[in-house]
Amino acid sequence: MHDSLIDNLKKEIEGFKRTLKTEMIGHVIEVGDGIAKISGISGVGAQEMLLITTHTGEVAGIAFNLEEDLVGAIILGDSSNVREGDVVKPTGRVLSVRVGESLVGRVVDPLGNPQDGRGPIFEDVTEEIFYSVERAAPSVIERESVRTPLHTGIKAIDSMVPIGRGQRELIIGDRQIGKTSLAIDTIINQKNDTRHVTPICIYVAIGQKESKIAKIVATLKEAGAMAYTIVVSAPASSPASLWFLAPYSATAIGEYFMEQGQDALIVYDDLSKHAWAYRELSLLLRRPPGREAYPGDIFYLHSRLLERSARLSKERGGGSLTALPIIETQLGDVSAYIPTNVISITDGQIYLEPELFYQGIRPAVNAGLSVSRVGSSAQTKAMKKVAGRLRLELAQFRELAAFTQFASELDESTRKRIDRGKVLIQVLKQPELNPVPFEQQVVLFYAAIHGYFDSIPSEEVQTYSNTLLRYMESMHKEDILGALLKSGELSTDIEEKMKSAFNDFSATAHS
Ligand code: ATP
Ligand code: MG
Repeated sequence: MHDSLIDNLKKEIEGFKRTLKTEMIGHVIEVGDGIAKISGISGVGAQEMLLITTHTGEVAGIAFNLEEDLVGAIILGDSSNVREGDVVKPTGRVLSVRVGESLVGRVVDPLGNPQDGRGPIFEDVTEEIFYSVERAAPSVIERESVRTPLHTGIKAIDSMVPIGRGQRELIIGDRQIGKTSLAIDTIINQKNDTRHVTPICIYVAIGQKESKIAKIVATLKEAGAMAYTIVVSAPASSPASLWFLAPYSATAIGEYFMEQGQDALIVYDDLSKHAWAYRELSLLLRRPPGREAYPGDIFYLHSRLLERSARLSKERGGGSLTALPIIETQLGDVSAYIPTNVISITDGQIYLEPELFYQGIRPAVNAGLSVSRVGSSAQTKAMKKVAGRLRLELAQFRELAAFTQFASELDESTRKRIDRGKVLIQVLKQPELNPVPFEQQVVLFYAAIHGYFDSIPSEEVQTYSNTLLRYMESMHKEDILGALLKSGELSTDIEEKMKSAFNDFSATAHS
């Protein structure tokens, strides 16, 4: 009896086809600011894709506000041709983008259209795979903990805020202090990391000037990184609806690679602008504004987006999607609404500080406020060994430096610690577009924490350490750098070799 009831219900559900709705036709009754009010399609679903027939062709829209007899839709693309009375057809499906390997190396808009003037993307591909832009995140059972490092090539990050594949790590800071540069360097460094497979990288530009995006693409190309990168671009001049859509379609593209068992990395540059776009759309649709006039569900929106990054279990193919969302703060205020939201839904944050940046300490990573909650379990053993000590010495240095700011006489051991701290700060400095491979970082940090740079004046430490790396490259490419790269461990054998190499080097450097 019970079973038959369930069977009947199941049959009912299976038999339920939205035959009526596909024949539904509505009309635009009001249009402006990229928003259309549509009547006659009150049966559509939330987020359903609509096709608006204008006098110049078809434009896509998304059903956003479902009211009793009206539907508020956002228009994807140029809304200037949409007029009152235009016919609207629901499509019966949520918006999706075509995904596949052919996207690699290309620049696309959030709808998947090529933006690089290089012609169609899927020309030779017969298999058509579409992914919905909104997809459910992998469940807890489908996930595994983060265990493989994602080396950024940024010394301050790989040592102190290590990132693992499948992690979500926020890059946060004021404007113009190197947020984008960190992300671009991370993408470029992926080809240096020969210890791990190169992840497919996806850079999502939201609301940035076209010229800036073009420059980023050129930089990636020049560095040879476009070979494994996809750029999803919603420039400043594009409508807010596309800014809003960009991270979702880019994530769908990333999910495709993750579900193929590959590793992917996605950079959202930036989610502050994404939140602004959503606020604008929501206000135009007359949704009730909440804190800082953002719609109440902005938190849910971002958490749903970032939940889609994961390290999948073996049963699900073992792929991963690592997310580096970027958030811009105003005057360092991390306690504003959007920053606190995103801080709480990521696995840590890299906090960039203007004061450091202007002092010339670049990248301006604030080591005290930056954290990585899961990445250390993915850190390579050799790095873990040197980085622990590095972190500790820097923390002691910060404490002492604050205390002894006004003291004129310092005891020997305090002075030594302060000097060591100053050396470490220099070692961590790094110009942009200069990612340092992990094995070279290990060598540098080992030398620094074992006092090999202590006798060098702090303004010369950077040059000296660069010369040391070049020396290691030419003299110990296999036995030290190669061995570190291969084993990932700092064996006593390698340690002994390093010590004697450092001594040889300082003998030549000082002679
Ligand atoms: P915006 O707020 O405009 O997005 P941003 O925080 O993303 O800025 P970037 O565009 O990455 O910052 O960098 C700002 C400026 O700082 C650029 O001129 C860049 O060349 C410079 N810069 C970034 N990183 C470094 C670095 N490590 N060393 C020297 N200069 C750097
Ligand atoms: Mg930027």
